[in-house]
Amino acid sequence: MISKDLPKLIQKMLMFMTEKKPIIDPWGKELVEDYNRLIKEFGMQPFDNNIFPEPNLQMRRGVNFGIQDGEQIATAIQNKKPFYVLSGIMPSSEKIHLGTETVIQNIRYFQDHGAKTYVLIADVESQATRGVTLEEGRKRALEFHIPAYIALGLDIDKTNFYLQSENKAVSNLAVICSQKITENEFRAIYGSVHPAKVISAFTQMGDILYPQLSEKMPGIIPVGIDQAPHIRMVRDVARRLKSEYGFFLPSAIYNKYTSALDGSFKMSKSGEAIGKLEIPEKDLNLIEKKINKALTGGRPTREEQRAKGGEITKCVVYEYCKNHFIKDDKVLSLMFEECVNGKNLCGECKAKYGVPYAKNFYEEFNKNFANAKKNIGKIKFVK
Ligand code: SF4
Repeated sequence: MISKDLPKLIQKMLMFMTEKKPIIDPWGKELVEDYNRLIKEFGMQPFDNNIFPEPNLQMRRGVNFGIQDGEQIATAIQNKKPFYVLSGIMPSSEKIHLGTETVIQNIRYFQDHGAKTYVLIADVESQATRGVTLEEGRKRALEFHIPAYIALGLDIDKTNFYLQSENKAVSNLAVICSQKITENEFRAIYGSVHPAKVISAFTQMGDILYPQLSEKMPGIIPVGIDQAPHIRMVRDVARRLKSEYGFFLPSAIYNKYTSALDGSFKMSKSGEAIGKLEIPEKDLNLIEKKINKALTGGRPTREEQRAKGGEITKCVVYEYCKNHFIKDDKVLSLMFEECVNGKNLCGECKAKYGVPYAKNFYEEFNKNFANAKKNIGKIKFVK
């Protein structure tokens, strides 16, 4: 389902993409026309995984497709100079979508490479746009979102968490940003000047630039493509505030969309259980059912599939394995080979790769999540 909250251009691109699935090579590096158009439209560069040292799985396997001002971050990493990575948790949902794992893995990557790490709880935005109270937002963040981020590899001791509602510097910065955009510019990017959108957009700008108040340093924001208009706006604002505040233009690294089980482009954080990261022990058997229901690239007959191989570019099972479940490159290569050579039919492939690797992913997540919850008392929100 394509959200109507998204800017028109993104909606159009996604509609087009739902009709025409992207072409991928084994590592998903090949870009379809649509992503190339987005790269051009939003002034990105295609993501080249040689830019950063020891690229992570998402970078190597083409889940990241675009970048803006990556060089200033690469230089900071190389010269061991200060830089930051920042991301937000939207506590409007009580769960997170599997696609969020990509963003978390990118935060983790930059944290492991020396970034000062900021993770904000977008409680103001959640209240403004979804009516979730600040108390409820905080509760959800502590009970699920923050432990989930830690379970996926974030270092609790090296991460600065804060709540938008408690960070006065962010609110002040949001007000300063609001002086740098005209109503027409805002409407062109966000579609309307609805008060909730205005509050959310300027608070986000305050968030993105906030780490630069205490230290002048570049920063990188890992995001999905739906965030491209926000990034464009905050970069414009940073440019307009440069002479006064000396801001670096924020860098951004973009990841591709995660398909829903039926192959459509996933826009919502709600959805099938397989798309949520916390699956109770008793429901782990659901994974098998979900994987068995997922869209594959299977041919109409066994004979045809043995002769021609599967249409892997259409296969959601392969997409999930490549982007999330199978960490070992050799295993993923085998899955790819056995599909395109017709060695495996889809049922055999799911039994050998899809189901066991998905189960393993969720079991490990659940174990790490339980451990992370024990440490949640250690968190002190920055104010
Ligand atoms: Fe997907 Fe496996 Fe079928 Fe290939 S054989 S289309 S990878 S389920």
